[in-house]
Amino acid sequence: MNALVATNRNFKLAARLLGLDSKLEKSLLIPFREIKVECTIPKDDGTLASFVGFRIQHDNARGPMKGGIRYHPEVDPDEVNALAQLMTWKTAVANIPYGGAKGGIGCNPGDLSISELERLTRVFTQKIHDLIGIHADVPAPDMGTGPQTMAWILDEYSKFHGHSPAVVTGKPIDLGGSLGRDAATGRGVLFATEALLNEHGKNIAGQRFVIQVQVYTVSGYISFQGFGNVGSWAARLIGEKGGKIVAVSDISGAIKNSKGIDVPSLLKHVKEHRGVKGFSGGDSIDSNSILIEDCDVLIPAALGGVINRENANDIKAKFIIEAANHPTDPEADEILSKKGVVILPDIYANSGGVTVSYFEWVQVINLWARPVQNVLMYFYVLCKLQNIQGFMWDEEKVNNELKTYMTRGFKDVKEMCRTHNCDLRMGAFTLGVNRVARATVLRGWEA
Ligand code: GLU
Repeated sequence: MNALVATNRNFKLAARLLGLDSKLEKSLLIPFREIKVECTIPKDDGTLASFVGFRIQHDNARGPMKGGIRYHPEVDPDEVNALAQLMTWKTAVANIPYGGAKGGIGCNPGDLSISELERLTRVFTQKIHDLIGIHADVPAPDMGTGPQTMAWILDEYSKFHGHSPAVVTGKPIDLGGSLGRDAATGRGVLFATEALLNEHGKNIAGQRFVIQVQVYTVSGYISFQGFGNVGSWAARLIGEKGGKIVAVSDISGAIKNSKGIDVPSLLKHVKEHRGVKGFSGGDSIDSNSILIEDCDVLIPAALGGVINRENANDIKAKFIIEAANHPTDPEADEILSKKGVVILPDIYANSGGVTVSYFEWVQVINLWARPVQNVLMYFYVLCKLQNIQGFMWDEEKVNNELKTYMTRGFKDVKEMCRTHNCDLRMGAFTLGVNRVARATVLRGWEA
């Protein structure tokens, strides 16, 4: 099903449960602004290549719009629109003061050299710089982008607006990025999984997991970008907690080991061979069957729409943790719910990334965005003989705060499930939509 149709359907179901006024419902659904730009760059061989870039700003009632920028061949306006809308509900579920946006360029980053990627990112930034900003719209990494992409955006944006490190999050640490941001989405998935399993009287240890990972295994892009991909971090952290990872797939292939895959060796293999294919610690299986492998917990952490009416009946997992954005079609939702499968929805389960983006943004804003406070703070820094890094949180603090947000988010979602007698997806949607609706009404419409 088309991503936007699916997302709109979930939103409308939530609006109905909340008894939302139909005019308010309409205003919440229509994006604030849709930007589409042409990006032409000279390739390394001197020829020209043209790409289409998007930034869809969905809603800003609760704060600056926030969301990643995706480089992927399947980026199209409907997909970006759906992802932008999901960001609005996600930031509201996480209860961080942001709205939602998403961007993307239709390209295969693996087909581009590093310098071509840099040129493409700079051209895209030149085209949208007037419409993003620290208090307007703050991009971050998503599929196919990473800290280096954010560094180029920061640099290009700063040429027009002065040094602005808080205009992006997910930056390299050396440019004011947050410790723990790389692992944050995967770590959030771990905390979300723990919260759900504990509620069902279970622990991570003892459960069998299948994880569908999205990895770019081309052109050395991984090692260059160093982007923490959600599924591999989730696998690593779940493995460390005693979870048994029985199957993993990425774009190179899939492997299975019912005794449990040794995740550190797998990650070493992935680094050396650019994919799970050929890993000796498991048997190679058909990638298409990964989602229907026998397990307790299934974690789709790749593209949207992978769980649909074609495969939902064959899914054996008892729990699905949506580390990816919109991996489950509404038709599959219905089939799985009849089978008694419990689904932890994306707008809660993968909110760890944007939550740590918020921690990063706040820390950087405190350092740079308020001149008077800065002067006082630098005096303070000098007096205390600390360096500025002293004001950045250490990784333990980031991880502890993330756990607090994820645990509270789960409680808030459950509360909505009780109030509206609904499943976790509708619990999360009603929570997010209700918070945005309240902010919108409070702000009013007076022109
Ligand atoms: N791209 C991530 C997401 O889909 C993170 C967004 C952000 O940090 O702004 O949630």
